Amino acid sequence: MATNRTFTMIKPDAVANGSIGGILKMINEAGFRIVAMKYTKLSKEAAGSFYEVHKERPFYGELVEYMSSGPIVAAILEKENAVVDFRTLIGATDPTKAAEGTIRKIYAKSIAANAVHGSDSDENADIEGNFYFSKLERF
Ligand code: UDP
Ligand code: MG
Repeated sequence: MATNRTFTMIKPDAVANGSIGGILKMINEAGFRIVAMKYTKLSKEAAGSFYEVHKERPFYGELVEYMSSGPIVAAILEKENAVVDFRTLIGATDPTKAAEGTIRKIYAKSIAANAVHGSDSDENADIEGNFYFSKLERF
């Protein structure tokens, strides 16, 4: 399993805001290389399945609605220590608690509409990347 890769989504609020470019710029400047990328939209079923791990949590229904509400950008990113370094770059789930200079501090509107996703482990980075991308779509 690749330990130098993580998976991200630019979420519907950030896409709708015109923040794709700004967020990708921060990702590039932090030293991540783009391995795979697509502009797409999740169906409710696909969002429900992507977030299956959260299905017992109280916000699951809203999260599925929100993540299927508009287009997203999905990407696999590569860098040494990718998972941990990307979580540092995006900041805390709740943007009011996110550190200054993090993507969520700058771009997120709320704890739900928080601009970006970042994998929480190497194992999930692998699972999440496989959810969107075939081997032929990785460079
Ligand atoms: N979320 C939410 N309310 C909460 C916690 C999380 O709407 O109280 C949403 C939010 O979009 C978050 C996603 O559910 O990014 C997944 O939650 P997780 O705890 O995995 O946070 P993350 O790993 O994205 O920081
Ligand atoms: Mg998470």
